Amino acid sequence: MGAAAIISLAEARAQKQRVELRRQLHAQFDRWLETLEEHMTEPKPTLEQLTHAVWEVRQELTGSVTAAVVEQRSRPEQEQQHASCPHCGRVVTARGVVSRTVETVVGAVEVSRPYFYCVPCRHGFAPLDSALGLAPGRKQFDLQQAAAKLRAEVPYETAQELFRELTGMPLSTAGLHELSNAVADGIGVLEVAPPREEITAKITAVAEGRRWRPVMVLAIDGADVPTRPETAKSSRPGGKKVRAKRARWQGQWREAKGFRFYLVAEDRIVHLLSWHQIQSDEDLFAALAQVKAAGVIPEEQVRLCVVADGAKWIGSRVRMLFPTAAEILDYYHCAEHLHQLAEVQ
Ligand SMILES: [Zn+2]
Repeated sequence: MGAAAIISLAEARAQKQRVELRRQLHAQFDRWLETLEEHMTEPKPTLEQLTHAVWEVRQELTGSVTAAVVEQRSRPEQEQQHASCPHCGRVVTARGVVSRTVETVVGAVEVSRPYFYCVPCRHGFAPLDSALGLAPGRKQFDLQQAAAKLRAEVPYETAQELFRELTGMPLSTAGLHELSNAVADGIGVLEVAPPREEITAKITAVAEGRRWRPVMVLAIDGADVPTRPETAKSSRPGGKKVRAKRARWQGQWREAKGFRFYLVAEDRIVHLLSWHQIQSDEDLFAALAQVKAAGVIPEEQVRLCVVADGAKWIGSRVRMLFPTAAEILDYYHCAEHLHQLAEVQ
């Protein structure tokens, strides 16, 4: 009997919250209608004029609806008073509610959430941001995806223009570059690969006036790259030069593997496509297989050769994908192997 009473109380509360949310949303819709009316100057608009007016102000509605739903769903988190610092684990008290406006494909969304600050770590954080999966910057992941896709398909200026038209959000050239890079971790090689026509045009340019098809190189390698997480911003002791070379945190250096396609044009190379990620051998060859399957590389127009470090795993898999390619051991690894041989002798 007691349990039943508690359940119905919780249900009643949930019901009350739903009613409250509806009331809020309806009020927002009323306000939005007023905005729309202001945008419709013609007494008898054509459909096009009407859709134009709705399109212009659509995000004011969708953005505020999203904000209201977020607000209602995150009530418990809004009241959070204490949180553990993600760096040192110290429990810190909320500094107050801080609003943050993020940009999404449905418009600007204002999120109010308790903000925490750990003094020794000099680190500010809002647990609700992580719970909602917010991107660190103003533009959120949905916009980042859109930017990356556009960037991969069309020239910068067109990408910028389309981005603004489709998302209703302005975007600088630098912003576009940053966004499409930010998303690179989450996207596949085909989204960064230039279209086949672009590669063909470069091949034609290099081939001009020559008897032989140009040499295209596929270089496969691994290299240690520094990885820099957001948390690694504090200053470190030591002179600048020493500091620059020192690993900043455990596991800083990780091996990025990747490949690059380029043309050899006399004494210079013409870059075509590169894909370097912190990834396994399987990932690397899966990406290479995708490139092959998509027909991005016009193999019949070039003489393809593969430059690698001589590792068996590379050779056998390359032969499966590009059976006619000439395999070339790179000079430095060749020298290294000779040195090892000499040592054994
Ligand atoms: Zn801390």
